[in-house]
Amino acid sequence: MSQHRPHRLSDFVADLSHLLDQTSDEAVILREGGVLLAELVTNDDWLPEAQSQPDPIRYQQYLLHRDPAGRFSVVSFVWGPGQSTPVHDHTVWGLVGVLRGAELSQAYERRGETLAAVGVAHRLEPGQIEAVSPTVGDIHRVTNAFDDRTSISIHVYGADIGTVKRSTYDAEGKAKTFISGYADVPPPLLFDRASALAYGAAE
Ligand code: FE
Repeated sequence: MSQHRPHRLSDFVADLSHLLDQTSDEAVILREGGVLLAELVTNDDWLPEAQSQPDPIRYQQYLLHRDPAGRFSVVSFVWGPGQSTPVHDHTVWGLVGVLRGAELSQAYERRGETLAAVGVAHRLEPGQIEAVSPTVGDIHRVTNAFDDRTSISIHVYGADIGTVKRSTYDAEGKAKTFISGYADVPPPLLFDRASALAYGAAE
């Protein structure tokens, strides 16, 4: 990473806010928000070191931005070698874009009392985007595709996701309520224009 360019995240947040000012149509948000997220993860020169750190025990979720109106949140997911989520849902729309490494996503669907895998796990490479929501498919399990290095993906959700009451599922498909929280919450104005200018990055 040569130069730190935090303005990319500021620009993404501004563009997504503008999109959400225009529409609440989920299909439009997933499509156009996906284009914005793809642009954000095309460049790997803006995520601060503090929000790039894996943990030896479990994957980390660092809050990068929380919309003041609560309409969305942006989170960096940092996967240590071989780490994975439990099978889980989101209950709101979400977009996932891989920044570094790669991840494997296995979708599930409800079949009566149990859950069934949908197809096989697919691999998301840097720059690729995946959408989740109760409408397009909300249950999955995500794994770092590498067992010898860190992978990082940037997630955007249609809520302050760390506070959302949702579910993980055991092997029998039994739901258990969980609220993910965040590994870290940044100080205000960490990603403002002034810091971009200070780094000489906002030409
Ligand atoms: Fe997920």
